Amino acid sequence: MNATPAPRKTVLSGVRPTGPLHLGNYVGALRNWVKFQDLYRCFYAIVTWHALSSEYMNAKAIKGWSFEIAVDWLSVGLDPDKCVLFVQSEVKEHAELHLLLSMVTPLPWLERVPTYKEQLKELQEKELNTYGFLGYPVLQAADIVIYKADYVPVGEDQAAHVELTREIVRRFNRIFGPIFPEPQTMLTEIPRLAGTDGRKMSKSYGNAVYLKDSAETIRQKIMPMVTDTRRVRRSDPGEPDDCPVFTLHKAFVPKDKQDEIARGCRTAGIGCRDCKGVVLEHLFRFLEPVWERRRRFEEHPEKIWEILEAGNVQARRVAQATMAEVRDALGF
Ligand code: SF4
Repeated sequence: MNATPAPRKTVLSGVRPTGPLHLGNYVGALRNWVKFQDLYRCFYAIVTWHALSSEYMNAKAIKGWSFEIAVDWLSVGLDPDKCVLFVQSEVKEHAELHLLLSMVTPLPWLERVPTYKEQLKELQEKELNTYGFLGYPVLQAADIVIYKADYVPVGEDQAAHVELTREIVRRFNRIFGPIFPEPQTMLTEIPRLAGTDGRKMSKSYGNAVYLKDSAETIRQKIMPMVTDTRRVRRSDPGEPDDCPVFTLHKAFVPKDKQDEIARGCRTAGIGCRDCKGVVLEHLFRFLEPVWERRRRFEEHPEKIWEILEAGNVQARRVAQATMAEVRDALGF
């Protein structure tokens, strides 16, 4: 007799639509998401309300950014037949659950979230001293538990948010009965990808290589990129582990070729120009199918909205079932 296969575990993750995605986003998250879609029941959200918490002055731009994110997702190989791709603000149940969770979340839990104070300081020009921004992790908790997610893939810097979700879940379950499972952090190793100026690749530093950039744009960004400062002359040996360009090798070049380049760098057997040429070759090899899929989707923009709407319907169905349970537990 065939045993019934165990149901797939559920994964939830999201992206704030605040602009196009870059190679750092791919290496840090999307590459894993593409793998997860074959292993888990995945819900991937474009978290429009989270974008609004810091971009409320640019609210009208969020829809366009959401479209860009969806194109980036589909072009790197997220497949709507394998995972649910949806827009958070189109599933209103997230807002209702956010409200209910906020009733049981003590304020000090939110004030002590490490990223909260940091961001208040870093993004002073955005006036983030708002109720919505403080409550960001509660909305995140609602996003996760409304799908009863088992796993949340995050980098170490986000682990505190998942821990807070677990605390909120414990408190909610204690008061109203066991409704939500405690989600587990799925710590993914996030390799540091350097941007063109050597700092971490980030949209806000203006040093990013975007998934939608053309081959020529990428060449123009990579060729002048900073390298190990020891290599002043072609004959000076360098240290690849101290070179921002080598972070791209680690992400996109096969291991045997990486080792060869590292040896060449340390013995001055290869010049930085040629070394960057190798990175570009492998980057383009990775990006060609991505560009091809992007071209197909951009020819039919209506398809993007259709895919998202189909995802919204699937997400809503699950979220509504959870909310029926929650309202019942509250006696509403
Ligand atoms: S050879 Fe390559 S790894 Fe070495 S310093 Fe130059 S760009 Fe960096």
